[in-house]
Amino acid sequence: MTKKQSQKPIQQNLAIGDVQTHTPMMAQYWEIKQRTENCLLFYRMGDFYELFFEDAIIAAKTLDITLTKRGQHQGQDIAMCGVPVHSHESYLHKLIAAGFKIAICEQLEDPKEAKKRGPKSVVKRDIVRIITPGTITEDNLLNARSHNYLLSIMEHRGKVALAWLDISTGDFYSQSTDKNDLINILHQLEPSEILFPTEKKPLFTELTALFADKISFLPLSRFDSQNTHKILCDFFELPTQSAFADFSAEEITAAGSLLDYVRLMQINHMPHIGMLKNFQDNYFMQIDRAAHINLEICQSAHGKNHSLLGKIDKCHSAGGARLLKTWLSAPLCHMQTINNRYDAIEWSQNFNQNTADNSLQIIELLKSISDIERALNRINLQRGTPRDMQNINQGLKNSFKIKALLAGTIKHAPTLIQQNFDNLHNLSSLQQQLSAALKDELPALARDGGFIKAGFSAQLDHLHQLSQNGRQILLALEQKYRKKSGIDTLKIKQNNVLGIFIEISTRYADKLDTDFIHRQSTATSARFTTNELEESARNMVEANHKAIAIELDLFTSLCHEIMQFSAKIFDIAHAINFFDLVLSQADFADKYNYCRPIIDDSRQFHITQGRHPIVELSNITQQQNFIANDCELNQNNFLWLLTGPNMAGKSTFLRQNALIVVMAQAGLYVPANQAHIGMIDKLFSRVGAGDDIARGHSTFMVEMLETSAILNRATDKSFVILDEIGRGTATFDGLSLAHAITEYLHDVIKCRTLFATHYHELNQLRTDCPNLSNMHIAVKEYQGDIIFTHQIKSGSAERSYGIHVAKLAGIHPNILKRATHILQILEQKQDLPDIAKVDWTSESSEQDVEQQAWLQIKNLLNDTDIDELSPKQALEQLYHFKNLLDKNK
Ligand code: ATP
Repeated sequence: MTKKQSQKPIQQNLAIGDVQTHTPMMAQYWEIKQRTENCLLFYRMGDFYELFFEDAIIAAKTLDITLTKRGQHQGQDIAMCGVPVHSHESYLHKLIAAGFKIAICEQLEDPKEAKKRGPKSVVKRDIVRIITPGTITEDNLLNARSHNYLLSIMEHRGKVALAWLDISTGDFYSQSTDKNDLINILHQLEPSEILFPTEKKPLFTELTALFADKISFLPLSRFDSQNTHKILCDFFELPTQSAFADFSAEEITAAGSLLDYVRLMQINHMPHIGMLKNFQDNYFMQIDRAAHINLEICQSAHGKNHSLLGKIDKCHSAGGARLLKTWLSAPLCHMQTINNRYDAIEWSQNFNQNTADNSLQIIELLKSISDIERALNRINLQRGTPRDMQNINQGLKNSFKIKALLAGTIKHAPTLIQQNFDNLHNLSSLQQQLSAALKDELPALARDGGFIKAGFSAQLDHLHQLSQNGRQILLALEQKYRKKSGIDTLKIKQNNVLGIFIEISTRYADKLDTDFIHRQSTATSARFTTNELEESARNMVEANHKAIAIELDLFTSLCHEIMQFSAKIFDIAHAINFFDLVLSQADFADKYNYCRPIIDDSRQFHITQGRHPIVELSNITQQQNFIANDCELNQNNFLWLLTGPNMAGKSTFLRQNALIVVMAQAGLYVPANQAHIGMIDKLFSRVGAGDDIARGHSTFMVEMLETSAILNRATDKSFVILDEIGRGTATFDGLSLAHAITEYLHDVIKCRTLFATHYHELNQLRTDCPNLSNMHIAVKEYQGDIIFTHQIKSGSAERSYGIHVAKLAGIHPNILKRATHILQILEQKQDLPDIAKVDWTSESSEQDVEQQAWLQIKNLLNDTDIDELSPKQALEQLYHFKNLLDKNK
């Protein structure tokens, strides 16, 4: 079941007019259901959320739970299924993941209150929240190390803007952009839910098809410019005339529509949201969608751990990891900010080295901090728990210690370090209050009390004392009744149905006098009460209720106390995230010998001893070396045509340089000895391709679409990697296209480009393209086999050694022999029809086999300088030749 289906109003087998024919409860259900179009309604009944009619059928199927029935309507059973309240989050998780929206309808009063209005009265219920993928706040439903963005897109007369918000952390941004860049930006931001005006669908067919599962279509009226501006101003309490002057009208509309939607979904409870920040169109480096996917920056086809982010994320806290992901998925074009980030990492390297002890202590403190931002916004949304409060308490306590450990070194620290240090505000009075209030062991929910420490409230302590006394009184009564009845096994017990009662074995039932009032009999026991016991029980229950009510009052006032400091607590949380990121990246850079890049406005791309961050780390794990390589592109030499055998390392080299660009402009150190990079505006890649059947594109079509995007959008400031072009079509078509495309990149676009190809014919381009260099990856041939050196050298490769690689891959020897034979004929420019047909059914064609062995011997002899051989080596060669002939027999 997909979201697309859930977007259709979920059909109920019931018409509005039928309401009268329903029981009062079903009539209430139906009235509420009508207000929750497109949602599954979780209707609270006691300890369960129940679903009815079509909702029940859909949920039972998606959740794989039993579908039952409850009563009938017009002679037909009403389908029903339910999930327990205490474990409903795991069910929500599945439904949200399947693309559904869920409306939560709660009981708003104690059922006893309803009963007072008459036996047929229905408990008051209403929707308290609508849960959509972009508005979830529960830790269990969120990925701790990623943001959960709700994003809105607005277009007006060709101008496009988007705004995005993470309600679990309060991060709120907007950006105006070009319509063509939207898809790339969405791939970078990975929003969970996208708000989009239904009426604009025809203008954005590709986008709406690509993100169909994520889009919540809303009527254009929800994007009204005046209304959304007012919503934004009201929320931030700013005067409408002057506010948001730096934002485009479309940005304001997109941002306002987000707040409006959140208010609708949260039924008027709003989280803390940071002031809207906007980015200039050229603030971020643009990463082409294909590059984002192919370079496996944040996600890999083999799982997140194999992506760049997965390999370099060494943060100790979830918030730090989220910040790193934000930096990596949105590298910058803003020199000052990039350098500020480098400064912070450099400072952290010194801090880690010069005050190693402090650094270790900070790491321990970071490890024991829970997610403050998300805990705080649950409290702001009135969904907080005592544990959320404790997380804030712990976070604040640790932040003071972190500040103290940093304090001695902060004097001449760079800007970002100073700013974040200053943001570690001193909220000690709030923290002390929370420490004084909260017990060490806390319940998951505030509902049943039991979280306030003794000594915090005299009134509460008094009630606990009463309840404690009540227990003593019950023990005393038990003793008294045992004595009075002579039944040693008499017990005073408690359950939810009877409350507190006396229990004896049935066989003693007639031993009790008339003070004992019979309440219930079971197979083995009889249950009684007395007036005295009833009164004690009543006192205890009352004391308990009062204690819970007081705890809940205290909880609410502590929540308010915390909410007053929301902005400062968010500052603290962000500072902690920042220190986690820079300290862990500094440590990582030291450990793996990463360097601080130099970024300027030139067209340099000079990497000394660069390495692939993912392959290098995997090789280290497998105790293999990674061969570092230089890359030098500049104003006069900006296109490298890279040839070399299969498996030589061409793709690795291309990708490693693209990843170095991403890391450098994200403000991180890079895997190289030196890196000098002229700022890159857009990063493109065309590497590998599969078909895209869903969008009706063949493999070659995908290849050409990606290439076309590069040729249309790259500028002389862009960086392009091309891993083979034109291989998906006939050889001459492909070669012609590759030739023309290279010329165009060289003559017209002039962007820094690394182009890996097996079309050795392209090496001739060097003659007409003065800014192009032929480079190759060297291999050594030894005794008929090849050894990969993975070293980049100037000049071109002559052969691809495809058949050697096929041999490594275990292709059948007969096929290899045949292929070698065909290759020889082709290399002598003969036509394929001239090749004699092979008989595959015979073990092997003897003539071919022998010819093959002699061919190998000939190649070996060609590559051997006989005068250089010692007698022993010459003898070894002879043995090897004999071996070859024997093996091929
Ligand atoms: P093909 O032309 O067949 O696509 P290729 O030249 O693009 O091959 P890669 O896919 O980049 O080759 O690399 C082949 C293998 O060599 C990979 O397993 C990779 O991990 C390893 N490799 C590549 N470069 C290096 C290097 N510099 N040091 C160590 N191992 C490397």
